[in-house]
Amino acid sequence: MSVVVQDIVLKESLKRFFGFDEFKGEQEGIVQNVLSGKNTFVIMPTGGGKSLCYQLPALISEGTAIIVSPLIALMKNQVDAIRQISESDSVAHFLNSSLTKTETRKVKEDITNGYTKLLYVAPESLTKKENIEFLTGVKISFFAIDEAHCISEWGHDFRPEYRRLREIFEKISNVPIIALTATATPKVQHDIQKNLNMLDATIFKMSFNRNNLYYEVRPKRNIEKEIIKFIKERLGKSGIIYCLSRKKVEEIAEVLQVNGINALPYHAGLDSAVRAKHQDMFLMEETDVIVATIAFGMGIDKPDVRFVIHHDIPKSLESYYQETGRAGRDGGEGHCLTFYSYKDIEKLEKFLHGKPISEQEVGRQLLYETVSYAETSICRRKYTSYKVKLI
Ligand code: ADP
Ligand code: MG
Repeated sequence: MSVVVQDIVLKESLKRFFGFDEFKGEQEGIVQNVLSGKNTFVIMPTGGGKSLCYQLPALISEGTAIIVSPLIALMKNQVDAIRQISESDSVAHFLNSSLTKTETRKVKEDITNGYTKLLYVAPESLTKKENIEFLTGVKISFFAIDEAHCISEWGHDFRPEYRRLREIFEKISNVPIIALTATATPKVQHDIQKNLNMLDATIFKMSFNRNNLYYEVRPKRNIEKEIIKFIKERLGKSGIIYCLSRKKVEEIAEVLQVNGINALPYHAGLDSAVRAKHQDMFLMEETDVIVATIAFGMGIDKPDVRFVIHHDIPKSLESYYQETGRAGRDGGEGHCLTFYSYKDIEKLEKFLHGKPISEQEVGRQLLYETVSYAETSICRRKYTSYKVKLI
């Protein structure tokens, strides 16, 4: 009986806070697991709806949930979104180096007064002594680690400071942990669980089947012309073009601009203020296309990205999933177009060595697509990669 009541309460909260009628996938079970005080590990593809899995329990729990997040832009994006659905801005805050002393004081006041349900922090801020001391004295509901692959030395965004999280959590409060990632490889998964000392966690693994994504490969010939034509057929739609080098990013962005396409570059060589501005312009739809190195996009919630173009084959399969996974996050069309040269086929083969069988399947599929295109020159419509059992 109590479970039924709780179900209704959860549904009502889902509607009230987020305006959704139904939970997506296993969200409800995950939320319940968190609320029941157990540790939780969520492996869900990009766009699957991971944020809600900790945001909803945070909003209806007593105390403040601490959300560990890797990027300031990502925190800002989420805090803005939560504030939009709440009556008061105090409900969500971030604590990082970009805040002034006065702003930091206000954040701490709101937490002490019990107004703040979600506090986003980067690991670097969380490990600061004064923050640990402060957080030890307030009520914490649970800890969430988004983009948890950052913990793993086998994950593609490895950040060593992430490996101290468990130790810090123990100092602050003995509350449950939820870790979330889109990186599904067993090695990364085990590494995360071991490092967080949560081998007992309830694991939720979602299917990586994304039927709304349409994969296409084309040989790298007249690539600039092809890209311009492709975008002009989708004028006004949001898209990302990934290149491997900064130089190529600059070149392509310029070529697109010259051809009347609203495009901006994004790479680690640009000033951080410029990067933040370009990212915001993309999110606010002031620019349609971002030409980027892999530095762009981690966790950024732009649901209606309609195409992801790979000017170059990415460095790893993980990057390929992550990057193409940024298309069609709202369930609408997502066109993933990858350009390859003959050299790339060799490179793709190399990816596969030493990979778990499940990943090899995905890689083979990509390779197969590429090679079969090369052989037949027929561009075939195919729903590929994510259909393969990834986990
Ligand atoms: P992830 O972190 O797994 O990549 P997000 O949390 O950013 O995914 O969510 C992706 C998109 O799905 C967002 O636009 C979000 O609003 C939407 N979404 C999440 N949960 C639901 C739901 N229950 N019903 C409809 N849309 C949802
Ligand atoms: Mg996310």
